Amino acid sequence: MKVGIVGGGAGGLISAIEIKRNSNFEVIIFEKMDRVGKKILATGNGRCNYTNINASSKNYYSIEKGFVDFALKEFDVQSTINFFNELGVFPREEKEGKLYPFSEQATAILDCLRNEIERLKVEVRTSFKVEKVKRQGKGFKVIGEDGESVYCDKVIIASGGCASPSLGSDGSGFKILESLGHSVSKLAPVLVQIKTDVSDIKGLKGIKFDANVSLLQRDKLIGSCFGEVLFTEYGLSGPPIFQLSTKTAFRKNLKISIDFMSEYSPKEVYDILENRKENLSHLNMEAFFSGLLNKRIGNVVAKRAGIEKLSFPVSKLERQLLWKMASIIKDFELEVVGVKGFSNAQVTAGGVYSLEFDKKSMESKIVKGLYACGEVLDVYGDCGGYNLQWAWSSGRLAGRAIVKEG
Ligand SMILES: Cc1cc2nc3c(=O)[nH]c(=O)nc-3n(C[C@H](O)[C@H](O)[C@H](O)COP(=O)(O)OP(=O)(O)OC[C@H]3O[C@@H](n4cnc5c(N)ncnc54)[C@H](O)[C@@H]3O)c2cc1C
Repeated sequence: MKVGIVGGGAGGLISAIEIKRNSNFEVIIFEKMDRVGKKILATGNGRCNYTNINASSKNYYSIEKGFVDFALKEFDVQSTINFFNELGVFPREEKEGKLYPFSEQATAILDCLRNEIERLKVEVRTSFKVEKVKRQGKGFKVIGEDGESVYCDKVIIASGGCASPSLGSDGSGFKILESLGHSVSKLAPVLVQIKTDVSDIKGLKGIKFDANVSLLQRDKLIGSCFGEVLFTEYGLSGPPIFQLSTKTAFRKNLKISIDFMSEYSPKEVYDILENRKENLSHLNMEAFFSGLLNKRIGNVVAKRAGIEKLSFPVSKLERQLLWKMASIIKDFELEVVGVKGFSNAQVTAGGVYSLEFDKKSMESKIVKGLYACGEVLDVYGDCGGYNLQWAWSSGRLAGRAIVKEG
C-alpha cells in the first residue's frame, strides 16, 4: 500500500507520522516548496502557538455544523500536547490558554516533526508541485507540474488554503479536489487586518492603544475582544482585530466600535471629563485629553463631537458636549470597508465542502480512497492555536482511518 500526501504542512506531516507509526505502508509527501513546513516556522510570530487548552467545537466555523467534533475528540488537545512532548516539545501556557514550545521557537515544532518523518522513513519529495490527481484503477495517479506521475493507492490532500501563498499554500489543492468532483465554497481571508473608512483617522496611523473592540452588523453585536489595537493607513490591525476578522467572512454592512475606556461606564467617563473641565479650565482643547487618551485620538474625539478648533477653551465645554465626547470615547465607530487580502491573511475561511467528507475518517464521500485534512476543508478556527489544532486533529484522523481501512 502506497499513500501519497499532497502538502508537507502541519496536516500532511502529522498524517504521515500517524500512518508510518501504525503500519508498514509506504508514504510519500509531495511538497511544492524546497522544504516542508515553511508555514509552521512563521506561526505565532515565529514562536508557533501550536494549540490552545480551551479548544472545542465552538472555536470553529464550517459549513457542516459539528464537522470538527469527532476529530477534536479523537485527537484532543491533551493528546496533541503529549504527542509533541514525546517528541521533545515541552509546553508553555500563555494568556487565553495559548500553548507554545517552552523554547519559544517555532523551529522546535518543525524540527521534531521532521526528525520523526526521517526516523520513520517517510519519503519526502520537495519542489514537487502536484498539478493533478487522477483516478487510475482503484488508486490514483499523482501528477507533478513537470509531468512526472506517481501511482498511489490512497491520497490525502493536505495542501492548505490560499492564505499567505508565499509560504506555499496557493489554493492549488482546491483545483485538484474540484477536478475529482468536489466543490469549493466561497473563500475569504481571515485572521487578517480590517480595512475601515479612514477619512477622519488618517492622522492616527501608528498609534497603539489597549481598547475593547466590537464588531457589529446593522447594529447587532457579532463579537467583541479586548487588546492592543493599531491604527494603520487602511484601518486597523492588532490581536483583537485579527480575532474579530474571523467573523467578517461572508458578512456585509459591518461596523467596528472601539471603547477606549472599557473599564468605565459612560456615566463614569462623563464624570471624568467633567472633573477635567474643572481642573483644566484655564487650558484649551489641545491639552484637554492629554494624560487620558492619546492626544491624537483625543483630537479626533473632539472633532467628532463638533469642536472644530483645538483653540476652543475648555471652560466653554457644556454638559451636552461633555456627554457627546464621553459617548464617542465609549463608542468610536468606524465603517468596515473590507479586509486585507490573502497575502496578508493567516487563514482561509471556506474551502472544499465539509459535507462531502466523512467527519469520522476525513475520507471523501465522492471518491473512495481520497482524503483531506487541515485548511483545504471549509473549516477555520479562531485566533489562538485553534487552526493548527485542526490541522493536527484532522491530519491524524485521516492517517488513522487509512491504517484502519488497510
Ligand atoms: C503568518 C501565519 C501565522 C500563523 N500562526 C498560527 C498560530 O500561531 N497558531 C495557529 O493555530 N495557526 C496559525 N496559523 C494558521 C496555520 O498555520 C494554518 O491553519 C495551518 O498551517 C494549516 O495547516 P495545513 O496543513 O492545512 O496547511 P499548510 O500548513 O498551509 O500546509 C500546506 C502545504 O501544502 C503545500 N502545497 C500546497 N499546494 C501544493 C501542491 N499543489 N503540491 C504540493 N504541495 C502543495 C504547501 O507548500 C504547504 O507546505 C498561521 C498562519 C500564518 C500564515
